[in-house]
Amino acid sequence: AGFEGVLETMQEAVLVVDSRERVLFINSAARDLFDVSQSAASGKLAWESIRSSRLQEIVTQALSTGTTVRGEVELPRRKRLVEVSAVVLNLAAGPGCLAVAYDVTDLRRLEKIRREFVSNVSHELKTPLTSIQAYADTLLNGGLEDEGSSRLFVERIVEQSERLSMLIQDLLRLARIESEPEAFQIERCDAVQIASSSFLDHQNIALTRQIQLEFHPPARQLEVLADADGLRTILNNLLANAINYTLAGGRVTLTLSLDGDRVLFEVSDTGVGIAKEHQSRVFERFYRVDKARTRSVGGTGLGLAIVRHLVEVMQGEITLKSELGEGSTFRVWLPQAP
Ligand code: ADP
Repeated sequence: AGFEGVLETMQEAVLVVDSRERVLFINSAARDLFDVSQSAASGKLAWESIRSSRLQEIVTQALSTGTTVRGEVELPRRKRLVEVSAVVLNLAAGPGCLAVAYDVTDLRRLEKIRREFVSNVSHELKTPLTSIQAYADTLLNGGLEDEGSSRLFVERIVEQSERLSMLIQDLLRLARIESEPEAFQIERCDAVQIASSSFLDHQNIALTRQIQLEFHPPARQLEVLADADGLRTILNNLLANAINYTLAGGRVTLTLSLDGDRVLFEVSDTGVGIAKEHQSRVFERFYRVDKARTRSVGGTGLGLAIVRHLVEVMQGEITLKSELGEGSTFRVWLPQAP
């Protein structure tokens, strides 16, 4: 009973069947995973209650070959993916089979995200590189002789190299936040000073784009618990986006205030806005609402992913409120310094 008690409470799903594939034992994790009740299972043919032909195949194969059989089993009703190991046992009453299932749903999902990320990165790096090659080729194949076009081509090469370098910088930044969150120095910072310097850094670009950029500081000094560089990156990315996705004549505001015991940074624009279905996804890496348009305004698609990670590292919170065609408001809360 002691041993069964241990098996019963194990995280991994455990199923034991006899040579005729009748259930001798099924622990709580397995009942849960395979969606069967104790009474429905014990003593009966396993496949009467466990409806998984793939699991059945694995167990049957283990019993008939006498070897260990492994395989992945999808449980569509539970929306889980498990890895099953079935080994043959010599039980008192004859041969049997012990199947152990590990839930690999999250693992496989993470692996998929990583694979997609690598493929996205390669694609994003390839695009500017391809145009650099094309412009350089054109220059070599006669373009150099034509002074007007050669200047244009070299300008394009510089533009695309800058894009490439921005992308690599953002990738490194993201990698650093993820792999060494402890490298961040969370300390008491002057929120007003950091916000106002971020605001000043964007005045020129706002002026060029004919966008009215405003800063609303709080009435009094505000100190925040943050990594100063990280906070600058957050505000710079949000302001750059707000300006990028707002048409000439629009307005972008940065407002700083105390909200309970947290400092609230609000970046609001009267720009193109983000439709509901994209709102949660814009924080994903390389997710762009409008691929063609954002390429032309020069974003890397990583800005908001970086912002979200930084906010998490600093134990803050971020929200987005937006209305298509009306504008967007990003709010970031960070703890106030005591
Ligand atoms: P990008 O470098 O493309 O701007 P981000 O991660 O910063 O990448 O943003 C992801 C996407 O979210 C953008 O491509 C854009 O479609 C959308 N977006 C971000 N900020 C705004 C905003 N202020 N207004 C409208 N759309 C925005």
